[in-house]
Amino acid sequence: MRLCVRKGAWRAMWDDARARAPEEAVGLLVGRRGCAQAAWPLANASPHPLVHYLAEPGELLAALRRADAEGLEVCALYHSHPAGPPRPSERDRAEATWRVPYVILGLPEGRARAYLLPEGEEVEIRVEP
Ligand SMILES: [Zn+2]
Repeated sequence: MRLCVRKGAWRAMWDDARARAPEEAVGLLVGRRGCAQAAWPLANASPHPLVHYLAEPGELLAALRRADAEGLEVCALYHSHPAGPPRPSERDRAEATWRVPYVILGLPEGRARAYLLPEGEEVEIRVEP
């Protein structure tokens, strides 16, 4: 399995993650034909946003409706680790419910990786023009 992300969406996702540090950012990567073309940030509603994320449910629902209305698919869910590596935490695994890849942006390393969770199988990310 492979995750395709257009350069614009890739940049927007990183910009969002950096802008929200030291809190964790969260959002959706949406696109068409298996390639993400936009990053849609979602509010982090976790009471502990420095170490955890929780997509604000109302915003998430609105984003899913918008994607549906615009004929876009959810390609991945992303969140950031402002102070840690781009590896899923125990909690990331325990709370995973989506069958799309989870992209984790590790800010100190400046590197993002993607996984199927809770299994932890890594998904290759391909950034395309
Ligand atoms: Zn995490």
